[in-house]
Amino acid sequence: MKTAILKSGGIVEMIDQERPKACNDFVVVKVHTAPMCTEFYKYREAEQDLCLGHEAAGEVVELAQPGKVKVGDRVVVMPQYPCGKCDLCLAGEYIHCENLVDPLKACSCESGVATYSQYVLKQDWLLIPIPNNMSYDHASMACCGLGASFGAIQTMATGPLDTVLITGLGPVGLGAVINCVIRGSKVIGIGKNKFRADLARQLGAEEVLDPDDPDCLDRIRDMTGGKGVDKSVDCSGGEAYQKICIAGTRRKGQLAFVGESGDLTVRVSDDLIRKGLTLHGSWHWNLQDTELLMETIRRSTHLIDKLITHTYPLSRVEDAFKLQMRGKCGKVLLHPHDKM
Ligand SMILES: [Zn+2]
Ligand SMILES: [Zn+2]
Repeated sequence: MKTAILKSGGIVEMIDQERPKACNDFVVVKVHTAPMCTEFYKYREAEQDLCLGHEAAGEVVELAQPGKVKVGDRVVVMPQYPCGKCDLCLAGEYIHCENLVDPLKACSCESGVATYSQYVLKQDWLLIPIPNNMSYDHASMACCGLGASFGAIQTMATGPLDTVLITGLGPVGLGAVINCVIRGSKVIGIGKNKFRADLARQLGAEEVLDPDDPDCLDRIRDMTGGKGVDKSVDCSGGEAYQKICIAGTRRKGQLAFVGESGDLTVRVSDDLIRKGLTLHGSWHWNLQDTELLMETIRRSTHLIDKLITHTYPLSRVEDAFKLQMRGKCGKVLLHPHDKM
């Protein structure tokens, strides 16, 4: 099978690897769609990464034992290799599992954990069935496209009466715009990249503000009757944006951190106690909400078609990295079995 790897010095290579073999509850999935996430950071920094990608949708091609899927099933592949046994895994919160397993060791394989590849290994219980009339590309948005912010938006019970501030309009933030718009919420976005600000408006954001605009907070208050937004979702991981979320959210409002981040100073008295803010850290979504997420994708395919701006065969991954560095794109997909 073909797999893309990143060697130090910014060298992208397509290599031939042995296709992984199914064992126990690990099944082999033929990857039809591999959404690209933050892997291009390593390309930009000329760092090595021999295991690119953590998102995929594809077709089950090999099983070792009867289980939750059968050969031919179309599935979305969830990230990580959690244990499946701890309280968190059993509650659907597998993403927070502390006992990750090593599938290569378990299956005695040398490859099969990267999704920038033609085949991947995954436990059967982490494969979400794709409804009949849903494409692989659309279904793959259950990973970081819509999935990354879905848990946050679900935790905050975001609905039609809410005004939601979304900071950081990369693919995850743009996915958050869709999650909120489809629930009838009013969305205010914050981002610097003009291409993505325009895209956020096309997806239904009412207004997109520039974080460097000194009147940014006043604009947010003007749009919310002077109170601030009900809920905010930071998808940037940047301190300046996170501070806008804290200042721009109303008293007794909620804020979810979705973008990976460094340190942030929160004023316990002013921001938390007196303002009454509730802060959430949120990473992906609870498996028990699978049907709700699939319904969100079903209802938003017209928006997802705008979110996905580019699709490349795996052999052109370097072009895709360069595109992501320029930032004139929404979500970018790889098709590992398209003509090389
Ligand atoms: Zn676990
Ligand atoms: Zn991702």
